[in-house]
Amino acid sequence: MEVINSVMCGWILFMGFLLHVSFAHQSVADQVPFSPKTRKLAGATDLAGCLVAAKSRVAFPGSPEYQSARTVFNRRFPYSPAAFVFPTTVPQVQNAVVCAVQLRIGISPRSGGHSYEDYSLGGRDGVLVVDLAGFKQIEYNRKAGTVKVGSGVRLGPLKLALWNLGKVTVPAGNCPTVGVGGHALGGGWGFTSRKFGMLSDIIIEVEVVTSTGGVVTANAKKNADLYWAMRGAGANSFGIVTQFTFRVHDVSAPVTHFSFSFQKSQQFQTIKAYQIWGLAAGAETSASLYLDPSGGNNFYGTFLGPSSNLNGVLSIFFANSPAPSNQAVLETDYIHTVLIDGGLSQDANPSVLNLDNYTYPTSLFKAKSIIVKAPGFSDAGIQTFVNTMQAGQVTSYFIFDLFGGSASIVNTIASGATAWVHRNSLFNIQMLSYWQFNLDQANADIAFMGKIWNAVLPFASLEAYQNYIDRDMPLSAYYGSNLNRLITIKKSWDPTNVFNFPQSIPVN
Ligand SMILES: Cc1cc2nc3c(=O)[nH]c(=O)nc-3n(C[C@H](O)[C@H](O)[C@H](O)COP(=O)(O)OP(=O)(O)OC[C@H]3O[C@@H](n4cnc5c(N)ncnc54)[C@H](O)[C@@H]3O)c2cc1C
Repeated sequence: MEVINSVMCGWILFMGFLLHVSFAHQSVADQVPFSPKTRKLAGATDLAGCLVAAKSRVAFPGSPEYQSARTVFNRRFPYSPAAFVFPTTVPQVQNAVVCAVQLRIGISPRSGGHSYEDYSLGGRDGVLVVDLAGFKQIEYNRKAGTVKVGSGVRLGPLKLALWNLGKVTVPAGNCPTVGVGGHALGGGWGFTSRKFGMLSDIIIEVEVVTSTGGVVTANAKKNADLYWAMRGAGANSFGIVTQFTFRVHDVSAPVTHFSFSFQKSQQFQTIKAYQIWGLAAGAETSASLYLDPSGGNNFYGTFLGPSSNLNGVLSIFFANSPAPSNQAVLETDYIHTVLIDGGLSQDANPSVLNLDNYTYPTSLFKAKSIIVKAPGFSDAGIQTFVNTMQAGQVTSYFIFDLFGGSASIVNTIASGATAWVHRNSLFNIQMLSYWQFNLDQANADIAFMGKIWNAVLPFASLEAYQNYIDRDMPLSAYYGSNLNRLITIKKSWDPTNVFNFPQSIPVN
């Protein structure tokens, strides 16, 4: 059995190689207010004095801590925030919101700092960044089958803790360093999502600091409009989430990881086989198809079951695909598939997922996405994609993430049930390009991604995935028929647009 190994983070795996108005919500008077002390000092004209009043740790320009705090996953946008504040308590977050509002400074929450457009730095200069890394609680309730998670927790530590506490998990992305906050609020897709849903689908409750500086809980019964909006459109538009409650799922049974490579000349047939299989695939299997212009052609994923059943699970794929040139199948336990899909060695001690003393990776990159509805591309659509891609003299690569298929729980939820609208997709194509300070290459790659996006548009949809946010896209691509309701909820909860970034939900 071949050892599966790769570099850090699921989708970098192969780089190099391998309101509704009628909905009642809590009135401002009902919200938990700030302490009188904070309220008084928030009138100060000086941000430092205002933040210090709540005893928050802060970093201002010129300090070493400010410089390191500016480091986010994508180094493409060197924004200069007004300051960073590092709250560890909810009142400190409330204080930060009050200070920003009273001093007319933009505010941006940051969880894991993995926004593709660096929106956790505000997407512009001069904002107050509220770094939520101090919100690290993971409180598992075995009896209820739920977990309370602080907004600063990252996916690796969360999956590890849930595994150790009860062999349970939440469906979430493969990269261990991604933050729960941004991820859950925009969807959150990973290799158990076809079985358990998007991470946003399993949110039971959120605790939110609002634009007035109050704190509320939102769930199916309380502040239901805010709860609805937070599940798909929650990133810095309605408030700052300090804690999530998620439903958890049992993953104690064996899990099989698989990876099959094909030739460049077989890209058309591999996509075709992937689509046919994906439409029929059981919910226990989640998968992606990686493709690049130089011939990369790899079908990989996880099956929540033993390897002895894998042939049957993938039979429709292989009935339509070419023979693989390389393959790796590994039956293991759930946490080892987390290691593998996170780009870590399957032989590593799972404790590495805690990310202790870990140096977070950074990159220079641009990404786009486009959602392909069931039943997938026509043959002409596949051919257009393959021809356009193969003609590109670029380092871009493409990942077809299987969101849908008839068995996928993601598609059993109505598109208006939460703010996450993309319910009848087959897959999402992620288009990615990384470069190292080479502006010519960067410009060529960015132009190419635009070209291929335009070429496949007639065969796909005008939808795109908000967690792969791309400033070239209109909001309708991310929120579709849910956008008008989101605007109404925005007016209700944040009428003065305290929480905003270049692609936030607008007031009008
Ligand atoms: C290497 C890498 C791998 C990825 N893999 C996957 C994947 O497998 N599946 C997938 O679905 N996505 C994936 N993503 C995309 C990822 O889900 C999004 O980038 C997500 O927004 C990152 O969340 P974050 O908290 O790390 O980012 P941040 O940059 O901290 O936040 C993103 C946005 O959310 C806002 N925000 C953050 N926290 C809060 C909060 N508590 N309250 C309100 N707003 C908040 C920020 O202001 C910002 O606008 C990946 C991204 C990267 C860079």
